[in-house]
Amino acid sequence: MTAPRGRQFLHTPGPTNMPDRVLRAMDRPAMDHRGPEFQRIANACFEGLTRIFKTEHPVLVYPSAGHGAWEAALANSCSPGDRVLMAETGAFSTWWKDMAEALGLIVDYLPGDWRAGADPAAIEARLTEDKAHAIRAVAIVHNETSTGVLSPVAEIRRAIDRARHPALFLVDTISSLASIDFRMDEWQVDVAVGGSQKGLMLPPGLGFNGVGAKALSASQSARCRRSYWDWRAMLPDGKTVTFPCTPPVNLFFGLKDAIDMLLEEGLDQVFERHRRLAEAVRRAVAAWGLELVARNPEQQSNSVSAILLPDGHDAEALRKTCLERFNLVLGSGLLRLRGRAFRIGHLGDLNELMILGTLSGVEMGLRANAVPHRPGGVQAAIDYLAS
Ligand code: PLP
Repeated sequence: MTAPRGRQFLHTPGPTNMPDRVLRAMDRPAMDHRGPEFQRIANACFEGLTRIFKTEHPVLVYPSAGHGAWEAALANSCSPGDRVLMAETGAFSTWWKDMAEALGLIVDYLPGDWRAGADPAAIEARLTEDKAHAIRAVAIVHNETSTGVLSPVAEIRRAIDRARHPALFLVDTISSLASIDFRMDEWQVDVAVGGSQKGLMLPPGLGFNGVGAKALSASQSARCRRSYWDWRAMLPDGKTVTFPCTPPVNLFFGLKDAIDMLLEEGLDQVFERHRRLAEAVRRAVAAWGLELVARNPEQQSNSVSAILLPDGHDAEALRKTCLERFNLVLGSGLLRLRGRAFRIGHLGDLNELMILGTLSGVEMGLRANAVPHRPGGVQAAIDYLAS
């Protein structure tokens, strides 16, 4: 292997590439986190986040990974012994389910084959059966990052309403936020869970909870043990977000510029850019004669594609070739997809040539590893993007 030159092509579905403007914004000396300058930046971020989440409710920011935001959402909404309805869409829904169980919740886990999103009809049926309203919350992963499958959040909201069930609606928007349309208020999501290292084009380290009024009121009686994650500590008056701990000041400078960049581009344009680049990936996959994990075209994610390799071919070997020969980092298959699928992250600070470079790396990797495929995937993507 020769010494890698040029920029590495990082195409995991998070962390994603960070724009130079965001990197420069974070390049700051230390600052008093209780002083007026930081307060100004933090307030601008809190306001900007409500626009990204499409909500009028507060968005809390934890110095944490997405896992922390997951735990905060569950621990503030539920009590040990509560029933929670979740849907198996892949590795992330499974890990969130495991966390719920570890917190003492009883999870009703609707089974799935990892190739489709959560099923609104199955959710409606389960809620309709629950005449005693024992189910405290429905918790869904909007964009299942392990499979590239999108769940129909708006339809699930309608299913909850049709069942006339009072369950809270918790949605993980970690790999859809700021890359695929997400509407917290319109879809009446009670708790929206986000993270910094994906569509927001930031380093890992910030976890978000958008907290609606119903969830905030439910949190008063929720009995899961919590201290660091307690919403009441971050939202003492129920409206104004604050920090009981030292906030990650430099990440906030990055967040401010990332939000500005997204709003300057326009969220609709951001979503359209992601759709177009994702479609280029899908055209390439089809031209290669390979198959996406996501079966239903309407549920194919615009932020990540998981691609199956033919039986007998190792996706990890393909990833190794792409890294060692072309300095291209692809996402691995997770849990049951390990070795069977690889993932192309196509979210964040990304353009046509970056995606074409990535597809070229994959096509070369397929050839180098003698994975059966038709040539011409990159050409199909070029034809689409140039048209
Ligand atoms: N949920 C989804 C959909 C994710 O994609 C991820 C991470 O990739 C997580 C949760 C967990 O986030 P973190 O790894 O930051 O804890």
